[in-house]
Amino acid sequence: MSLSATTSVESGRDTESETVPGPILLLGAPGVGKGTQAKELVKLWGIPQISTGDLLRANVTQGTSLGRTAKEIMGRGELVPDSLVNEMVAIRLLQPDTANGYILDGFPRTLGQATWLDGRLAAQTESRPVVAVSIQVNYNQLLRRITGRRICPVCQSIYNVYVNPPATDGFCNVENAELTQRADDTEEVFKERMRAYSALTAPVVEHYRAQGRFAEVDGDRPIAEIAAGIVAAVERLRK
Ligand code: AMP
Repeated sequence: MSLSATTSVESGRDTESETVPGPILLLGAPGVGKGTQAKELVKLWGIPQISTGDLLRANVTQGTSLGRTAKEIMGRGELVPDSLVNEMVAIRLLQPDTANGYILDGFPRTLGQATWLDGRLAAQTESRPVVAVSIQVNYNQLLRRITGRRICPVCQSIYNVYVNPPATDGFCNVENAELTQRADDTEEVFKERMRAYSALTAPVVEHYRAQGRFAEVDGDRPIAEIAAGIVAAVERLRK
């Protein structure tokens, strides 16, 4: 895979800016596998995954004021207000590990978030333009993925009781910890998350498509194949 995160000693700054991955947006409905794919890309490119869902859940667990506001909203499957999410992302993007790029997983989810991000990146002359890749999976598959998803609370490994069950029912293969289910991974909340996705996030796809910085990949394939599809799409969009 030619889009490399490392540069040779001889390479000059121009070459370096051509090879760093830059900001990458992973879009797609709940359950398409954004988190799984982000982790594949982290391994490949050595840039961080920034998942707004994970950051919000960490705030809920820590009981911060953001977490207290977000908890109920997330429990209903609705979106947390843009101003709160944008500020959380702004703080995360100040970390030095984002210098060569980052994978935004689950952000932007509204046009307001997308225009905020565009403005922020436009103000950073050294940043490469953002590229957006959407993962596609059909509705019935998504429902199975969401309601079957189980997570190890220790190592964050993700299982699915239907398609990728652990060796021992209910326990992590690595940690042997009892697997947990996200509170919003129920059929009822899934329907609300899909409604929010169609109403608020689908326009984000059109926003990046109109700018020619958007690609779609089929998410109903083995993990490595999807990852290769995303890498190929990013390389195409970066040309
Ligand atoms: P996720 O882990 O990406 O499925 O997100 C879980 C929940 O966190 C969503 O259903 C929303 O309630 C909230 N959330 C995550 N990312 C965002 C975002 N970019 N904007 C608003 N709410 C978000």
